Amino acid sequence: MKLLSYFRGEAFQRGVHPPSCKLTADTKIRRLPFPPQVIVPLSQHIGKPPRPVVKVGQEVVRGQPIARTDDWLSVPHHAPVTGVVEFVGLRPGMRGPWIDSIVIRAHPGATQEDLWGQPQDLSDTTRDALLQAIWDTGMVGLGGAAFPTHAKLTVPKQAKVHTLVVNGCECEPYLTCDHRVMVEQADALIVGIRYAMRATGAVRAIVGIEDNKPDAAAAIGAALQRSGPAPEGDIHAELVPTKYPQGSEKMLIMALFGVEIPAGGLPVSIGMVVNNVGTLAALGQLLPRGRGLTERVVTITGPGVARPGDYIVPLGTPLRFILDYAGAKDVEARQVILGGPMMGQAAASLNVPVTKGISGVLVLRGDEAMRHEDRKIYPCIKCAECVESCPMGLNPSTLGMLAAKREYDLMGERYHLGECFECGCCSYVCPANIPLVQQFRVAKQILREKAAAEKATAK
Ligand code: SF4
Ligand code: SF4
Repeated sequence: MKLLSYFRGEAFQRGVHPPSCKLTADTKIRRLPFPPQVIVPLSQHIGKPPRPVVKVGQEVVRGQPIARTDDWLSVPHHAPVTGVVEFVGLRPGMRGPWIDSIVIRAHPGATQEDLWGQPQDLSDTTRDALLQAIWDTGMVGLGGAAFPTHAKLTVPKQAKVHTLVVNGCECEPYLTCDHRVMVEQADALIVGIRYAMRATGAVRAIVGIEDNKPDAAAAIGAALQRSGPAPEGDIHAELVPTKYPQGSEKMLIMALFGVEIPAGGLPVSIGMVVNNVGTLAALGQLLPRGRGLTERVVTITGPGVARPGDYIVPLGTPLRFILDYAGAKDVEARQVILGGPMMGQAAASLNVPVTKGISGVLVLRGDEAMRHEDRKIYPCIKCAECVESCPMGLNPSTLGMLAAKREYDLMGERYHLGECFECGCCSYVCPANIPLVQQFRVAKQILREKAAAEKATAK
C-alpha cells in the first residue's frame, strides 16, 4: 500500500467537528436473522421504480429477481428471503407516503445462502457487458444516495475518466458500517474497485479514508499486497483530515487533490468518478457469483440501543424487528433516525423496511429525540455561525430568511440554493435553533415540482 503525501490537498474550508460517537467502531459485523416477513418497496432508489414480475402466492427463492426494469435509470430487485409472495401493493414507505411494495413471508428455517445466480467470469468482457452485469445486481449507492451504480459508472461519450475516487470517509457521527466493511471486507473491496476501474476506464483508484480510521487503511494495504499489482492501474489509500462533511464528493476531491468541482458540475467533468466503499465491496462479492443485492450492512446504534453494532440486514426487514433484535425496547418512531444525525431523516413508522440506501438506524433517547418542530426557535441573531460552517460557501442565514418569506425563486437564482447538498452544518451550529436544512429541503422540492410543471406545460 502507498499512503501517499498525507493531506496532499487542502482540507476543504469550513465544516464542523461534531462528537464522533462511533460506539460500534471496534465491533465485528454480525448477521441479523430473517424476520417473518420482508417488505420490498419498488421505489427505493433515484429513478423509476421497476415493475413486479411475481404474483401473490408464488414461491420465490433468495436472490431471485422479483422486479425488473428496462429503464436505464432504474434497477431490478431480488428476493431477500426464500418464501411466498404474500402481497403486491401499497405499504408504508420510509418517508410516510405509501408506495408499491412486494411482501414476502419467509419460510421458517430458510437459509441465508443465496440460491439464485451462477458464477460468471467477467475477466474478458467488454465495458458494456460489465455495466450490464452491474445493472443486473440491482446495485445502487449504498452510502445513502441510492443512485443506480451502473448509471454512475457509465461515462458520458464526450467525457474521459482517469481517476476512481473511493469514498471511505464515513464522517457522519455514530455510523461505522463503511469502517467495518473496510476492515473486514477489504479483499472484496479491491475486487469491486477493479471492476469499477474497468467500467469507467480509470487508470488509478484512490481510497480516501479519514485519519481516525488507521485500521481501515491498514486492512486495505494488506488486501492490496495479497492481491498483487492490478492490471487496471494503480490502487492506493490516502488519509484525509477527520472533519464533517469530508464524505461528500466535492469535499473529498478537494481534500485529496486540492481541486474544486465547478458550481453545478459533477466529478466526471474533471475526469473523476466517486463511489462508496460499501457499494464497491458489495459489487466485489456479487459480480463473480452472478447474484443480486439481497442484504446490506447497517449500523444499528445510539443511546437507545442495548446491543449496538453493524449488522448484515436482509433488505426489506421492518425496523421494529431490527430494534427488538438489537435490544431497543419501548421505542417510538420519533426517536429513530434513518441514517446519521446530520443528514438522516426521522422514520415515519417502525413498520417501514430497511432499503438499499439506509446505512444506519440511530435510536435516540428522551429529549435527544426532540424534533426541530418541538424546539423553541428564536429569531436570527445574525451571528454568522452558519456562514462560517457552510462548506459550499453559501449564506444559510439569508437563505433561511428567504425561505421564511417563501421567496424560493430568489433562493435558487441569486443565492445558489442548488449548490446546497443538505449537509446540515448550518442547522447544527445555529444558536437560534432555526431549522435551516429542513427549510432548504422544502424549498428545493418546491422548485423541482415547479420546474416539472413548467416542463409539462411546455410540451
Ligand atoms: S445544509 Fe446547505 S446551506 Fe447548510 S451548511 Fe450544508 S451546504 Fe451549506
Ligand atoms: S447561525 Fe442561526 S442565528 Fe446565526 S446567523 Fe445563522 S441563522 Fe442567524
